[in-house]
Amino acid sequence: MNQHDVLQEPFAAPGSPEYDEATAVFNLAAPARPNEAVTVRTVDEVRAAVREATERDLPVRVHTTGHASGARPPVDRGLLIRTRIDGGVEIDTERRLARVPAGTTWGEIVAAAAPHGLAAPHGSAAHVGVVGYLLGGGVSFYGRHTGLAANSVRAIELVTADGALVRTDADNDPELFQALRGGGGGFGVVTAVEVELFPVAKVFTGATYWSAAHARPLLAAWRDWARNAPRNATTSLRVMNLPPVPGVPPALAAGPVLCVDGVVFAATPEEVSAAQRDAAELLGALRAIAEPLLDTWALTDAAGVLEAHMDPADPVPFIGDHLLLTELSDEAAEAFLAVVGEGSGSPLVVATLRQLGGAFADPDPRGGVLNQVDAAFAYMGSGPPFGPVTVEDLEAHCLKVRVALEPWNTGTTVPSLVEGADRPQRHLDADTVAAVDRVRARIDPRGRFAGDIAPGATAAG
Ligand SMILES: Cc1cc2nc3c(=O)[nH]c(=O)nc-3n(C[C@H](O)[C@H](O)[C@H](O)COP(=O)(O)OP(=O)(O)OC[C@H]3O[C@@H](n4cnc5c(N)ncnc54)[C@H](O)[C@@H]3O)c2cc1C
Repeated sequence: MNQHDVLQEPFAAPGSPEYDEATAVFNLAAPARPNEAVTVRTVDEVRAAVREATERDLPVRVHTTGHASGARPPVDRGLLIRTRIDGGVEIDTERRLARVPAGTTWGEIVAAAAPHGLAAPHGSAAHVGVVGYLLGGGVSFYGRHTGLAANSVRAIELVTADGALVRTDADNDPELFQALRGGGGGFGVVTAVEVELFPVAKVFTGATYWSAAHARPLLAAWRDWARNAPRNATTSLRVMNLPPVPGVPPALAAGPVLCVDGVVFAATPEEVSAAQRDAAELLGALRAIAEPLLDTWALTDAAGVLEAHMDPADPVPFIGDHLLLTELSDEAAEAFLAVVGEGSGSPLVVATLRQLGGAFADPDPRGGVLNQVDAAFAYMGSGPPFGPVTVEDLEAHCLKVRVALEPWNTGTTVPSLVEGADRPQRHLDADTVAAVDRVRARIDPRGRFAGDIAPGATAAG
């Protein structure tokens, strides 16, 4: 049997619907334009695709949803493999494990786990792909309890450059298992992951929006609460310039708004009242400052968390940036609002501060080469090049924010939060980069997947 018997069709070329399907990306500002592309639905198809690429000496890139298409070097040649592996999510309730084929999105895991009283370390949007998020660390709305989401991965299966299917975990090639989680990619095509789940009885989740005119006292109160917040609470604060489009409540599109959203969860029914008290402490302090425009916080189950943040559901073009911040002093808060707040002229639709600390800061011996985040807050800001706003305007503003926040910039990043391939990023020290490079040289000696390596994640540059 040759490759094409397994693959059903040969690789697709530009102009065909199969090519369009395999190259579709969420970030429309960073389209993928490989010479050839293929959507793979079984492990055998992955193996056949990799073998054929090796035979024809094609460089190979891999993606799932293309949420991070702007964060990696452009896909502009070779073969792009899109993973859409069949099978669906399997939940092992006894071991609290989800087995997840590559191509799965977080919404699918949450839906499968919630009926069992279990939750997954997902981020803000249901449509983000599980594999790319986990390989890049994963900053979850449960993260102050679970740490980086990649720490919850218990096994990874991948097809390597020689076409072999490898299963790696704490006992089987632990160096590869570690390097895959935070190492920056370029090891092969992941076909499945196993992720540890955790019990959640109820969550208190939602978002409250105010006019950005009240941004200063709201930001100070949120920051003060965050300093001593309990670990069952993970929140974010966003300054948003929402466009008047269908789906956006008119009150939120009338001018810049400030939003505080997130999760306070109870692992058991006995902890529900304490979680409600924890949430009331934060929200009470904020609501006393000014009347909200919209307030959606409510007690619900784990599936409700994915509704709270209200990320765009459909692909959009966006240009953005990410920094990790040491602290949010009064000066830092002032600097942040001066470049993204009311009257700043910011073209960013959203400028986010994610609360870190708690378990994010704890090195996890079961994690990968990136197993903690040494920063108090993560900044992410982005906007679409629409109407009068150009790509250059957005890039210039990203730089302006960088300059303003430089005194509090750790100089490091979390790979899953990086938004621009050509903006500075670093998440590993030089010794760890060298160790990861040694694993790559062993697993992919000819560099078949070298184009997939995140900028800064290899000593080769
Ligand atoms: C609306 C939105 C909300 C987000 N929210 C969060 C959040 O809350 N927390 C957070 O941490 N991040 C968040 N992100 C960022 C997101 O985690 C990253 O973009 C992540 O890379 C998405 O993974 P993906 O597989 O969907 O993306 P893709 O762009 O498809 O993949 C990204 C990279 O992962 C690798 N990869 C993907 N699939 C495979 C595979 N099968 N085998 C080998 N390598 C593979 C490749 O190197 C690829 O370049 C968000 C992004 C968006 C656009």
